[in-house]
Amino acid sequence: MTKLTKIVATLGPATETAEVMEKLINAGMDVARFNTKHGTPEWHLERIHRVKAVAKKLGKSVAVLLDLQGPEIRINTKDGASFDLKAGDTAKFVSTPAGDREMNIPANVIEALQIGDTVSTDDGACEYKVIEKDETSATVQSVVDITVKHRKTMNTPGIVIDMPSLIENDLIQLDNMTDDDIDFVGLSFVRDTKDIAILRDELKKRNLHTDIVAKIENQSALDNLDEIIEASDAVMVARGDLAVEVPFEGLAHYQKMIIEKCRTAGKPVITATQMLKSMTSDPRPTRAEVSDVANAIYDGTDAVMLSEETTIGKYPVECVETQARIAAYNEPFSASDLWDWADLGDTSAITFAAFSLLDFSKKDIDLVVCFTASGATARQLSRFRPDIKIKALTYNRSAYNKLSLVYGVEPVLVTDETFIYSSELDIVNNLKANKIVEVGQKVLITAGLSEKVAGRKTDSLLLVEIK
Ligand code: PGA
Ligand code: MN
Repeated sequence: MTKLTKIVATLGPATETAEVMEKLINAGMDVARFNTKHGTPEWHLERIHRVKAVAKKLGKSVAVLLDLQGPEIRINTKDGASFDLKAGDTAKFVSTPAGDREMNIPANVIEALQIGDTVSTDDGACEYKVIEKDETSATVQSVVDITVKHRKTMNTPGIVIDMPSLIENDLIQLDNMTDDDIDFVGLSFVRDTKDIAILRDELKKRNLHTDIVAKIENQSALDNLDEIIEASDAVMVARGDLAVEVPFEGLAHYQKMIIEKCRTAGKPVITATQMLKSMTSDPRPTRAEVSDVANAIYDGTDAVMLSEETTIGKYPVECVETQARIAAYNEPFSASDLWDWADLGDTSAITFAAFSLLDFSKKDIDLVVCFTASGATARQLSRFRPDIKIKALTYNRSAYNKLSLVYGVEPVLVTDETFIYSSELDIVNNLKANKIVEVGQKVLITAGLSEKVAGRKTDSLLLVEIK
C-alpha cells in the first residue's frame, strides 16, 4: 500500500525502542516528533539517535521534529494534589506558592487578568471566570463541576500576556542538538513574525539550519497568518490549543483556511491533535476520527499527526497503519484538478507545466523523478497534489530529511555524480542503474539541462518510456 500523505508520529514511552520504531517506519511514519514538554534533553537526544539509526538501516528518510514548549502556562497545585470544584465554587490563581484551593501561575499572567475574563485549564475541560483581583492573586469562580489537576496547561483566550516566545527549557533543549539530529523545530504559540525571528536567531547561534514549523494555536497567530506562513518553513494546525484559544466552532474553517494558504505558498502543513484519540486505548478508531483523517487529506494537508496515540497509547503501530490506510484509500479522490490552479499567480512555470502534463495524461504517467538540490522543485510540484509519487533525488542530506514532510514526495539520497551527465540518455541510464525507475514505466523527469547539472536551475521536462 502506498500513500502520499505524510505521517508525523510523536514518540514517547510507548514507542521508544528500536523495535517499535522500525514497525512505525514500516507502517508509514515519515516524521518522528519529540515533544519537549516532557522528557529531558538527554532522553530526547538518545531516542533521536535511535530513530535516525533505524531509518538509516531501513534506507528510509525519516525527519525529526523537535517540538518546543514555548510560552505555555502551567498550573501548580499544593503538593501536586488534585481538588474538586462545583459550579460556582471559588478558587484562586496565585503568584505565591499555592495553598488549599489555589493554583500557582507566573506573576505576569496574574497581572494580565481582569475581572470578567474567562480562562481555562486542562485543554478547556476546566473553565473559570475572574471575579476579584489583587497584586498577587485572581479569585475565580468555576463555571462547571471540575477536578483541578496539577501541571495542566492554562489557556487565556484573547488576553494579551507579555511573555517571551521561548522559555529556558526550550533553549536548553536546543543546546546539544546538531543538524544531524533535528530537521524541524516546532514553535509553539507563535504570535507574530518576531517570534520566528527570535527562534531563527537562537538556531543560528547554535549553528543549526533546522526548518521552523510555526504552530498556529491562538488568535494572534490567526491575525498574522499570512506573514507567519511567509516567515516560517512549515506550519502546524495545532488544533489542541487552537480550539481552546478561539471558539471551537471555528476550528474546521481555520483548518481549511490555513491548509489552503500553506499549499498556495508551497509550505508543508501538518494537521494535528486528536486525529485518532480513541485509539489511545481502543484498537479501532471512531467513525468521526476516520472521517477527520480523510477530511484533512481532502483539505489538502501534507501530513497528519499523532500525539498521545503514539506516545502513551496502547496501539501506536496500529494508529500509523490506520492513518496510512485512510490516506491511501482517499488520496485518489482528493487529487487536484488543473483548473483549481489556473489562476495561481506565483506558480513556477516549470512545475506548473509538469503538473499540466500529469493532469492531461490521465494516469498514463507512472512516476515523477525530480532532481532537486535544495528540495524546492519537489515542494513546488507537490503543492498541486498530483496523484502519483514524486521521487525527489538529492545529494543534500538535509533536503532529503526535510522532504519527508512533503505530500507525495519520496526522498531519495543519491551521490552528487548522479546529478552530472553529458546527455539526456545518461540521465535515464543513471536512473535505471540506480533502480530509481523500472523498464516499462513512463516517467516524467524534471531537471536542469542548461548547466548540465540536473537539479540546479530546473528548466526542463523529459517524458520518457523506460526501455
Ligand atoms: P501540543 O501542540 O501538542 O504541543 O500542544 C499541538 C496542539 O496544540 O494541537
Ligand atoms: Mn499546543
